[in-house]
Amino acid sequence: PVRREARPVNLLNVDGLTVRYGCEAVVDDVSFVIRRGESVGLVGESGSGKTQTALAIPGLLPEDARCSGSIRFEGAELLGASPRVLGATRARHIGMVFQDPMQALNPYLRIGRQLSEVVVRHRLANRGEARRRVVEMLQKVGLPDAGRQYDAYPHQLSGGMRQRVLLASALIAEPDLLIADEPTTALDVTVQAQILELLETVRDDTALLLITHDLGVVAGHCERMLVLEQGRLVDAGATTSLFASPNHEHTRALVAAAPRLDRAVELEPAGGRSVLAVDGLSVSFDAERRARLRAVVDIDLTLGAGESLAVVGESGSGKSSLVRGILGLVPVASGRVVYAGATLDGDVQRRALAVRRDLQLVFQDPVGALDPQMRVRDAVAEPLLVHEPALSSGERVARVGTALRKVGLGEEHLPRFPHELSGGQAQRVAIARALILSPSILICDEAVAALDGSARARVLDVLRAAQRETGLSIIFISHDLAVVRSLCHRVLVMYMGRFVELADNRALFARPRHPYTRALIDAVPVPDPRAGRRPAPIGGEVSSLLNPPAGCVFHPRCAHAADVCRQERPLPRELDGGRVACHRSEELAL
Ligand code: SF4
Repeated sequence: PVRREARPVNLLNVDGLTVRYGCEAVVDDVSFVIRRGESVGLVGESGSGKTQTALAIPGLLPEDARCSGSIRFEGAELLGASPRVLGATRARHIGMVFQDPMQALNPYLRIGRQLSEVVVRHRLANRGEARRRVVEMLQKVGLPDAGRQYDAYPHQLSGGMRQRVLLASALIAEPDLLIADEPTTALDVTVQAQILELLETVRDDTALLLITHDLGVVAGHCERMLVLEQGRLVDAGATTSLFASPNHEHTRALVAAAPRLDRAVELEPAGGRSVLAVDGLSVSFDAERRARLRAVVDIDLTLGAGESLAVVGESGSGKSSLVRGILGLVPVASGRVVYAGATLDGDVQRRALAVRRDLQLVFQDPVGALDPQMRVRDAVAEPLLVHEPALSSGERVARVGTALRKVGLGEEHLPRFPHELSGGQAQRVAIARALILSPSILICDEAVAALDGSARARVLDVLRAAQRETGLSIIFISHDLAVVRSLCHRVLVMYMGRFVELADNRALFARPRHPYTRALIDAVPVPDPRAGRRPAPIGGEVSSLLNPPAGCVFHPRCAHAADVCRQERPLPRELDGGRVACHRSEELAL
């Protein structure tokens, strides 16, 4: 304790930090401090300079980056320090956790070996002792069966487990500062809640710099926050004060745009005549050793004209397989899809052109979905060449212009290639391409998941406008319940390919009838510091689809499981105007 008092009060002083690539400053004159043990959120939209700032601190910027200003850690200047000093500081005093643990972990080394190397290299223990210390740390970060997982390779672990391992590797040297760059963005909301809770419990007096675009995460986990806009620090202060009265316009906009799950939204009425019915649809895939992986099991749904139906659930819940089965993109094991009164062929190639035109799909990654060699005008016009070949080139150009205007893009975007667009612009191009044929159903598979606040809001506005103007029906796959609440009339919840619950928006969020739905809702961070920190609503992760639990597949994680749940599969039944598959829904006060 005496030694600690002698240290500077501020652990980190960043002063006038500027990072340039050529003439462009991606971080521009940024100054802030981090005190010992405190947690600071660094927020801003994509391209605001968050990651560049974080990488500059431990000296991890690429070689072509030019830095100026000052970064003092415990009073010692890091900017311009030798690689040896930077390496030692990183290893012993600054831990890092990234969004994608697969990139940070060595895929060829067992995880125990990777962590032991850290322990031995920093003389925290000798080789004999290292294993015990590593297993202890893996247990501390909640890795199940840590002794056995010591010998696992990274690819043998789930995303959530890999993130725990990365956290263990960052904390095992007991650093003074942990820099976590979007550590939970790639995880399901339930696992995110577990990892964030873990961060709080295992970091002891380690200071935390948490980089995120999610204001809910900052509200629940950071004492102070820093707001970046286009490389400049535009706001800084206590999280509670900045949420209550932001100093800067950009902070105000970020807080206002943060999706709120705790507020009901008025949706325009929809759901007239039925346009699509799915009846007992099951999708299976061949897996290793002749096993069958049942990705979707016996799902029923209907979709009305002008209605948005959300399909939600964690990774592995079968959301994407369900819509691919509907579209005929994967073989259907059983069940049928009825569109416009006729049962559709299970193979998209054998479906009539008019049906294919009527059911369009938008993916999560627009840049991956668009041909990199094709300019925007050609990409948007391409479906017309297939489905309306009689159009003159003048008519095609006019249709492309109208389609782009509807998604808020102008003529200047026509000659651009996908890599010349932002993520939000590329996604709007993908939507323009899907809507140019005036489909009756648009299926969005995590279509806004990769977009930040303002880009996401624009894409959602485009979808709402298309519904208003053309009566478009939407199936909206998402892991983001706040977005679902703001857009969708009804919500279908799935778990391990099985039906969990179906209810209209208001009823589902006000009173979910299934414990899994309740857990999904409770896991969403509320962008309001006054809401306080909430414990993770469920532990563990989704079981293997190759070996699903008997009875209710959710029972290993369910706090309400009874004997009947372990033996009998709950079947969907009507309850309070919705449908739910749980043995105990009537008696549980969720
Ligand atoms: Fe939980 Fe049982 Fe309901 Fe499954 S059936 S969700 S285990 S209470």
